Amino acid sequence: MSAAYPIVHHEYDVVVVGAGGAGLRATVGLAQAGLKTANLTKVFPTRSHTVAAQGGISAALGNMGQDDWRWHMYDTVKGSDWLGDQDAIQYMCREAPAAVIELEHWGVPFSRTGEGKIYQRPFGGMTTNYGQGTAQRTCAAADRTGHAMLHSMYQQSLKNHAEFFIEYFALDLLTDADGSIHGVLAWDLSTGELHRFRAKMVILATGGYGRAYFSATSAHTCTGDGGGMALRAGIALQDMEFVQFHPTGIYGSGCLITEGARGEGGYLTNSKGERYMERYAPNAKDLASRDVVSRASTIEIREGRGVGEHADHVHLHLEHLGPEVLHKRLPGISETAKIFAGVDVTKEPIPVLPTVHYNMGGIPCNFHGETVSCTDGKTDVVIPGLMAVGEAACVSVHGANRLGSNSLLDLVVFGRAAAHRCAELIKPGDRHKTISNESEEKALARFDKLRHAKNGTLTTAKVRLDMQRTMQNHAAVFRTSKSLDEGVIKLKKDVESFRDVKVADSSLVWNSDLMETLELDNLLGQALVTITSAQNRKESRGAHAHEDFPERDDHEWMKHSIAWRTGETDVKLGYRPVHTWTLDDEMKYVEPKKRTY
Ligand SMILES: Cc1cc2nc3c(=O)[nH]c(=O)nc-3n(C[C@H](O)[C@H](O)[C@H](O)COP(=O)(O)OP(=O)(O)OC[C@H]3O[C@@H](n4cnc5c(N)ncnc54)[C@H](O)[C@@H]3O)c2cc1C
Repeated sequence: MSAAYPIVHHEYDVVVVGAGGAGLRATVGLAQAGLKTANLTKVFPTRSHTVAAQGGISAALGNMGQDDWRWHMYDTVKGSDWLGDQDAIQYMCREAPAAVIELEHWGVPFSRTGEGKIYQRPFGGMTTNYGQGTAQRTCAAADRTGHAMLHSMYQQSLKNHAEFFIEYFALDLLTDADGSIHGVLAWDLSTGELHRFRAKMVILATGGYGRAYFSATSAHTCTGDGGGMALRAGIALQDMEFVQFHPTGIYGSGCLITEGARGEGGYLTNSKGERYMERYAPNAKDLASRDVVSRASTIEIREGRGVGEHADHVHLHLEHLGPEVLHKRLPGISETAKIFAGVDVTKEPIPVLPTVHYNMGGIPCNFHGETVSCTDGKTDVVIPGLMAVGEAACVSVHGANRLGSNSLLDLVVFGRAAAHRCAELIKPGDRHKTISNESEEKALARFDKLRHAKNGTLTTAKVRLDMQRTMQNHAAVFRTSKSLDEGVIKLKKDVESFRDVKVADSSLVWNSDLMETLELDNLLGQALVTITSAQNRKESRGAHAHEDFPERDDHEWMKHSIAWRTGETDVKLGYRPVHTWTLDDEMKYVEPKKRTY
């Protein structure tokens, strides 16, 4: 097989796949540690989905009033509906202030208070004094925080001489017979050449898989390629049933209106003009956690109180904030609302709808970024040679529901942690182990088969749309046993239909049809484990709202789901314990209680 594909060989200490916030933060740290580092990315670094992050990054800096990282930890554990690992959450919240100050020193132009401190806005689920007051904890560069972070971190990576392979598409992990990881195989989209990157550590930072759904705020590139590669390498994915719906995607286009809009005082209404969040979350109201607000909007629409011709969405009001606040704090979303909803936010409400936004699940990791496996349901075993960071990973700091502005934080805290761990584990210049060619042959065979799939009858777009509709209709904000059982059957058919996919063009240069087909293969694997894990979890927790089992069941279900893809449509399920301990006495274990806002 490889004779048909001349392969360019490379050797690095570490290869990072992905140049979003997580991949870039890891890359900076690795390069600073003197490790020979390659970063592979299918899109130009500053075009990664992180660029779209509007709301900001959380850290208990206390610039707008008293704050404490312990309160941030409490909020994150509660937001996670007690599925998050508390050691990892403690680590993230404690590191947060230093992480934000580091970004500031690297040049992120944070918005300022009158006295020149970093400005912080309120965000959903972020409180003071363990749930008593409203915290202002989210640091923002207007509504373009992710954009500013990517630019600063890409500059830092270049300054530290990291090497970038831009518009290289990673196809598969290179594994050895014992399951350890030794590199990746990649396709240079612009020349058509195939490249083998040998590495002592591969870090997957490939982002989420929002595009498994029909309506998502995520970019078209969010196809979870890292998760797809992990599944093919026999690695289980964790907590995949937990998919976050953001309450305010623009009706029709799915484009995001940041939660920062409600943080600045925006509110939701139904067809009666009623501020319905007051009924569902009497204290936090429109700033309750995202799962809570999305369920409330869905109930309003289901009960006939939606707005518009089809009564199928709700309204987000910002007009009372006045042009000055809108211009200063939310300039980007004013523009987005104009373009995608034709709305002047200073005069009229924005039509919005709960829209898929974030994947809490992903590649299971410890808080050093190391990928773990757990076959006996009790003990973690580190998978040698593989790490994951960012939305591709499940550390798990977000558990069953992520709080807004905690993802940008997750990216930089764990990107940095992974780089530190590599610096401990890897000696620059150590020799690479000799491995068999078996996994490379397998990866090439898959690539070659799809490339020459010209006799199929279904377009990539058709198979993708079927999958997206199945996921949107059967694994949505609310789930029932019936909807999930039917969904699993339909999705298996969608997966099987991929056998008949047609790739008309076998060219290797700028073949976007082939690339989208490879992405679809990754999406299908993740959709399959997502809906199967959802069918299996017989309780309601965070983003998984099961109408036949409306209560959280800590006795039976306070455990992570893990799912292996064992065949084309076969999934094996297992569990991993939730970490119910903290790192030290600075913060005690947050005991489970009922989650109200
Ligand atoms: C519209 C929107 C707004 C958001 N706002 C906020 C916010 O305000 N605050 C917050 O905390 N969170 C926010 N989030 C969530 C947060 O932005 C994301 O979770 C986060 O940016 C993901 O970062 P990442 O580095 O993991 O991946 P991404 O930024 O998605 O980057 C993925 C990278 O992987 C590369 N890649 C993928 N597949 C391959 C492959 N096969 N080969 C090579 N390279 C590959 C891509 O090229 C890209 O560089 C928002 C999300 C969205 C969609």
